[in-house]
Amino acid sequence: MSDRFFLDPDCSTIEGELATLGGDEAHHFSRVMRGKAGDTVILFDGSGFFWRGVVQNVSKTAVSVRISAKMPDAIESPLHLTVASALPKGERQRFLVEKLAELGVKRFVPLQLDRSVAKADKKTTEKFRRYVVEAAKQCDRNVLMGITEEMSLQEFNALLETECTKLILHPVSLGEVGQTMAREIILNGMPKEIAVLVGPEGSFTDREVAQALQHGFKPVELGKRILRTETACIAAAALLLTYAG
Ligand code: SAH
Repeated sequence: MSDRFFLDPDCSTIEGELATLGGDEAHHFSRVMRGKAGDTVILFDGSGFFWRGVVQNVSKTAVSVRISAKMPDAIESPLHLTVASALPKGERQRFLVEKLAELGVKRFVPLQLDRSVAKADKKTTEKFRRYVVEAAKQCDRNVLMGITEEMSLQEFNALLETECTKLILHPVSLGEVGQTMAREIILNGMPKEIAVLVGPEGSFTDREVAQALQHGFKPVELGKRILRTETACIAAAALLLTYAG
């Protein structure tokens, strides 16, 4: 049973030693978990701190908590990993966002590519942010994975810092463009900041691969098997983040 609750800035407050949980989190505490005054809880707001406290009062719409300690996060990875991919369809979107958040990805960027099959409108990205909060509650993260609005490859490249190591996942079987194996990124010394581009189910077009290479993305292969978009995203994140810690 999770005792972690998200202080959603839209409906919760924290002032000095008193926090008030509202909205879904208050409902979850009182109705789903049948929490009571006197219970110990952990609160986080996604900013990198968490608070320990004791519930003082429970009403239908709000839970007040007396704070006993404020602590800095100690579990974020030293690797700042951004994953940018075309969206898979249906339920696989949720799976993708949830697993990337769990693994410790800093930021997920939905990309609009030539062969994209799904679009991330405002409603979709809002839904993704809810999945991120759920994942953070479950995996103990105190920092929420960022989700940007959908953008083009060009816009994504413009977003990246100059010191960021840029990778494009592209299996050799889809075209030889000087790929290295992903593990070589690690063996050559783990960068602090990495951005990974992942293509849609129909893969990148030649134009997109050429554009990415021109922008300085290094082509990387994850193995000889062709992975689905979400599997490729998760495999790359797992390789890099479980290594980085
Ligand atoms: N439909 C295409 C495959 C697309 S896979 C085909 O069967 O030919 C979707 C995306 O996942 C690819 O564009 C690539 O970015 C990534 N990907 C899948 N398998 C990969 C692998 N073995 N190595 C690197 N990237 C891979």
